[in-house]
Amino acid sequence: MSSFLALNHVSFSYHSPQGELPAMTDVCLSIEKGEFISVVGPSGCGKSTLLSLICGLLPPEEGEILIEGLPPGASDVRIGYMLQRDHLFEWRNIFSNVCLGLEIQKTKDEESTAYTEQLLKTYGLEDFRQVRPSELSGGMRQRAALIRTMTLHPDLLLLDEPFSALDYQTRLEVCDDIATIIREAEKTAVLVTHDLSEAISFGDRVIVLSSRPARVKADIPISFDGMLSPLERRNSNAFYQYFNMIWEELKKDA
Ligand code: ADP
Ligand code: MG
Repeated sequence: MSSFLALNHVSFSYHSPQGELPAMTDVCLSIEKGEFISVVGPSGCGKSTLLSLICGLLPPEEGEILIEGLPPGASDVRIGYMLQRDHLFEWRNIFSNVCLGLEIQKTKDEESTAYTEQLLKTYGLEDFRQVRPSELSGGMRQRAALIRTMTLHPDLLLLDEPFSALDYQTRLEVCDDIATIIREAEKTAVLVTHDLSEAISFGDRVIVLSSRPARVKADIPISFDGMLSPLERRNSNAFYQYFNMIWEELKKDA
């Protein structure tokens, strides 16, 4: 059976008047439906580029990317993107912020609005529908950003360091929160991060990238006894073993 998402020998370079900047070289990766993948690598190694390639914003220079057997543009799979900054608009209240995707897609109707209301309730924001983003905590804002993504029923979620703008304690809580939401919704997710602990606490697998141009240095399955939340994982003994193992991989020949 073919994978849900496959990258076969993908290479990519940025071209500018100053010359060519290779960002990724010969990356092979395969992800099954429902899997949670963390991708970890040093800053500037090509992690965001990887997500742009997966969602079809950038075309691979060599190799191919297939989502359910088709290139990103041709596939029906819906992709949701979550970024480091929540990009909530201060001039819209929370309800109208989380409806933005529906408005852009012109799919805001009774059914999608009811679903949005349900998401706000499930994620504890229903009492904040009328408030402005600046009145929410960083964690609540990130939850609102996730709801805005979820209203579009994405099959694949791409998360680009979505917790890195938060302070440490909020970051732990929000990572826990958001991982649980995405798992319960049975989505497939790719989280890129430069934070090794975050990668291990979130993923079923950790892909370690080299420094730029990114290549896959290691692909490490992560398993804990039982279904642990990210916070519970951080407190388990296996966590430290994974941490040391992946830290060694990251350090190897940079
Ligand atoms: P990461 O997300 O791992 O920090 P990126 O994928 O954003 O890394 O970038 C990888 C490399 O490509 C970096 O050296 C970055 O400066 C460069 N880069 C990113 N976007 C562009 C662009 N649009 N044009 C030229 N170079 C870019
Ligand atoms: Mg990045």
